[in-house]
Amino acid sequence: MIGSSVVVRTRSWIVLCLGGFLGCSAVGSPAALADCPGHPDALGTSRTLVVDPHEHPRIGTMQYRETLPLKDHEIVLTFDDGPLPKYSNQVLKILDDECIKATFFIIGSQAKANPEGVRKLVAAGHTVGTHSMNHPLTFDRMPVEKFEPEINGGIEWTSAAMTDPSQLAPFFRIPGLMRAEGVENYLISRGIQVWSADFPADDWRHVSSDRVYQLAIQRLEAKGKGILLLHDIQARTVAALPKIIRDLKARGYRIVHVVPATADRPATPTNPVEWLLHRPTETVPIARWPAVPTFVFTQTRTLPAPSLADLNAQTEHQSLLPRRTKGQMDLASTLPVPGRALFAIPEGSVEVLLSTTLSRRAATRLAMAAETPHTVRGKIAKGRTAKSQARHAAHASPAAPKHAAQVKSATPRPTRVASLKKRA
Ligand SMILES: [Zn+2]
Repeated sequence: MIGSSVVVRTRSWIVLCLGGFLGCSAVGSPAALADCPGHPDALGTSRTLVVDPHEHPRIGTMQYRETLPLKDHEIVLTFDDGPLPKYSNQVLKILDDECIKATFFIIGSQAKANPEGVRKLVAAGHTVGTHSMNHPLTFDRMPVEKFEPEINGGIEWTSAAMTDPSQLAPFFRIPGLMRAEGVENYLISRGIQVWSADFPADDWRHVSSDRVYQLAIQRLEAKGKGILLLHDIQARTVAALPKIIRDLKARGYRIVHVVPATADRPATPTNPVEWLLHRPTETVPIARWPAVPTFVFTQTRTLPAPSLADLNAQTEHQSLLPRRTKGQMDLASTLPVPGRALFAIPEGSVEVLLSTTLSRRAATRLAMAAETPHTVRGKIAKGRTAKSQARHAAHASPAAPKHAAQVKSATPRPTRVASLKKRA
């Protein structure tokens, strides 16, 4: 049924799946198309993309080789760490007014405290995945005994908040993007898709809402399409969102709503190459690819995600950086975990709220901490010859193999979540 919904795009602002996932069954037929009631200038949602986690288990070019099979000028909005009524309700209203469908990654403790917030998201037709129970920023070094209850706790409390737990999507975003192979393998074995992102807007940092808006648009423009990572627990995100949406419309971007495949909702047909941000034939002439030297990754387990994605500062120097060859890109499908500084400010908890009252001195300290990896990398790179760097890069391997071993040696407990037991 959904196969027919693959792309229905007109020049008017079409809204698909008004009734949520179930409503998508009618998508594609003229009766399913509608303008955004009461909002003639709304951006709307241009199409619904159905994905099968089994076929493409890890997505988001901030860390992985594959990302969603979006077309040029298509964007997927994602919001992490909610629901937190004060801000989540405002985000929900803004999206509703624009008839935009997004994906929310829920923290279990937030769902436990505010189950109504989860139900509101589902009722509004958004996709709801999970983001752990307590949002620890240690997934990259947790043994299976620790991360398994974190993952399952988030799933259980989020699905428990739903009227129909089968509405929970098997999508998971690792807190702070602190990826580890063992965690990913565990999730994949459960049929859960691991979502990184294509670009953040740094809305968890102490920046202005204007800066969030600028980063969102600049990074999107640099890649031309992709998954935007935002948080629905921040005042600056609420303030920036209307402006981001207005600009998306002005620049001709289209919103894509992503839902998981089910037995009666097959995945949208795609070619494997569509899951690459830039297809092989396109990668060569593209100067905007964040050409970070591969050897950097081999020297440290940190990925300089903020500076890497901060394309504002790259335009001048980008041509000086060595471009990764296709061979290098194929070495591994994943990149190491991002630098600890990426999510230096704890999110999704009381700490987040407290962090908004941090003194200027504390903010400066955080900013200095964020700079540290760059200094370290600079020193390392300086001390190596180009040849040894290249050799080291060629033998690079994804981070956290010890977790993989731990997962193998442990027997995962079966989940108690009905919706995820036997997802096709
Ligand atoms: Zn988070």
